[in-house]
Amino acid sequence: MVKAANLGFPRIGARRELKTALESYWKGEIGAEALAQTGAALRARNWARQRDAGIARIPSNDFSFYDQVLDTTLMLGAVPPRFSGLSGLDAAFAMARGTQDAPAMEMTKWFDTNYHYIVPELTAQTRFTLTGNTPLLSYQEARAQGIETRPVLIGPVTWLALAKARTDGLAPLSLLPQVLEVYDAVLRSLDAAGAEWVQIDEPILVRDLTQAEDAALRAAYARLSRCGPKIMLATYFGGLGDNLELACALPVAGLHVDLVRAPDQLAPLLSRIGDRTLSLGLIDGRNIWRADLSGALHAAERAVTVLGPDRVEIAPSCSLLHVPVDLDRETGLDDETRSWLSFAAQKLDEVAALAGAAQAGRQAAAEAFAAADAAKASRAASPRIHDPAVKARAAAVTETDHRRHSPFATRIARQGQTLPLPAFPTTTIGSFPQTAEIRTARAAHRKGQMGDDAYRDFLEERTRDCIRRQEALGLDVLVHGEFERNDMVEYFGERLSGVFFTANGWVQSYGSRCVKPPVIFGDVSRPAPMTVGWASFAQAQTERPMKGMLTGPVTILQWSFVRDDQPRADTCRQIGLAIRDEVADLERAGLRIIQIDEAALREGLPLRRAERAEYLDWAVKAFRLAASVVADETQIHTHMCYSEFNDILPAIAAMDADVISIEASRSDMDLLEAFRDFDYPNQIGPGIWDIHSPRVPDAADMAELLRAAARLIPADRLWVNPDCGLKTRGWPEVETTLSHMVEAAKALRAET
Ligand code: GLN
Ligand code: ZN
Repeated sequence: MVKAANLGFPRIGARRELKTALESYWKGEIGAEALAQTGAALRARNWARQRDAGIARIPSNDFSFYDQVLDTTLMLGAVPPRFSGLSGLDAAFAMARGTQDAPAMEMTKWFDTNYHYIVPELTAQTRFTLTGNTPLLSYQEARAQGIETRPVLIGPVTWLALAKARTDGLAPLSLLPQVLEVYDAVLRSLDAAGAEWVQIDEPILVRDLTQAEDAALRAAYARLSRCGPKIMLATYFGGLGDNLELACALPVAGLHVDLVRAPDQLAPLLSRIGDRTLSLGLIDGRNIWRADLSGALHAAERAVTVLGPDRVEIAPSCSLLHVPVDLDRETGLDDETRSWLSFAAQKLDEVAALAGAAQAGRQAAAEAFAAADAAKASRAASPRIHDPAVKARAAAVTETDHRRHSPFATRIARQGQTLPLPAFPTTTIGSFPQTAEIRTARAAHRKGQMGDDAYRDFLEERTRDCIRRQEALGLDVLVHGEFERNDMVEYFGERLSGVFFTANGWVQSYGSRCVKPPVIFGDVSRPAPMTVGWASFAQAQTERPMKGMLTGPVTILQWSFVRDDQPRADTCRQIGLAIRDEVADLERAGLRIIQIDEAALREGLPLRRAERAEYLDWAVKAFRLAASVVADETQIHTHMCYSEFNDILPAIAAMDADVISIEASRSDMDLLEAFRDFDYPNQIGPGIWDIHSPRVPDAADMAELLRAAARLIPADRLWVNPDCGLKTRGWPEVETTLSHMVEAAKALRAET
């Protein structure tokens, strides 16, 4: 029998119940008991829903209150000593969010997704002991509800490969034997509890592996395959490539592969899979388009022909964590648009339909196949998707459209004349606190309870207030605060043609933080200015320079669900042209500084080194296309909130922004070494305030970070700013910390 399988289901809930519960818990409004109940209810609902959809392999332990990598760290007992004394959820939340005494652990993006995990920290002193055993508890919890599940674990080699050593010379993989002790115990406990299968995720198998990783995978699965449960080894986010032989040599009972990103690997897998079960990841777990079931069925039938029905599973390409929960909640969409889409709940149906058809022919799921064929035909022909004017303009872009008039040295000198700024100029990244008051007003406006004029008056008042506060703090380059924006991508998505919005299409980004990605479904253009009104209003309130604030083309692309019917590079160029029009309009309106955020440039980086140059080439071009329309005197800033630049510095330099602000505070400025070694020529603002943590750094801490920065980067190129925008913080901590930041900048000015 061909089995329908799933690798993971979104845990936030269709109504973001988990977010609400977590935030209430953190505020002390609900207790641990109530939070636990919300989690249990979500798990129960998700299991039942998967069973009802006809999924035979249902995941358990895919739930987490914050992050599954963090949960693995806790399961292994690998809690950094600064959090000792805490246990369970309190430990998890302290590790993820920090406390006044203990800075949070690092957080970074999970492979090439916009999901963030908490980076495990290892030292020579780290000891591993099974703690909590949530995989077992979760399996038993489902079983008590009459649902047999396949527990999911993050693989030991992936966990170690993602960990960061805090002891010099410590290779995380050298700790594999101790880590395997714990996995061994977990698998044996699952075996004893009756689990026939476990799913172990080793997405590092789609990256370029080091020899040590290769050896670790062989050692790990030689051992874990003897612990009892059959192992479905899951790989996703790309093809196995040159790791295919390795994957097929591991002594596991099943292998899951991503056939959406890498359809061509099916043929070699079928000849090398041996007697294993092959799980075909045919339904896109990273995107929201209705699947081309007919196309997928060809692949499934080939597998069934070679392996027989009993050794084939049909699955999403990866966990459904990365797509919204349920299209049925989108009551506002027209029928045509809806027919193009599929969210997690619908993808379960697609998986089941495909498994049914692979077993018994497409008539077994005739309705699903007819709907899929119709959607494909309508997307190919719809005039709402295809705009000849946009296609023509994108085709006519030339090399000069990507170049500023003069080189950086000339520009920065001209900017210095028209835009006098002190040494160590202070600024912020754009957003200021999105208070309950602002969210309430926005919701009231959306629902029509607050009229357009009243809402605008309210936003103007908030913006004016924000500008006054920045002036009082003594900041040099101001921002308007982004109060009119719900989200840095959504705001632009709502104003671009070729993009639409869901009402409830939330996806977890980290912890309780969710994003609602726009859907880029067609050719993109800008029918009217998007930010000029607010930017001019803000500039009119102050003598000081105001930064125009835009989101860059790569980030809009990267944080959206993108059409899969043309190359991403083509879509990105169309967005670049739309932003270029906005940049030109901002300059015309008198803004002398324009920031184009490219927070997501790095996460678009292909996982395989061989594919990176091509991506960086088109991504950097799209940014330059957007930025290069201005005069030398206009200063272009960009912002990136992550702290790994080593491998992309040439591309960062090629973007040629006059100023770049980056996340740096958690790295103690170490990352600036790479900028120094590369001789990065333009100006840099390394973040000196970790805005992800409620901790308030004092002026001395921040001055110390600036001194560290000034040892690596010439002082006349440094800016002073937080790691990222301040929308998630509260006003009191913002004002205190920014006053410390200004004080730190003054201290440095006095020293040099
Ligand atoms: N300008 C945006 C803000 O300040 C940038 C956010 C980001 O980089 N994630 O919120
Ligand atoms: Zn940022």
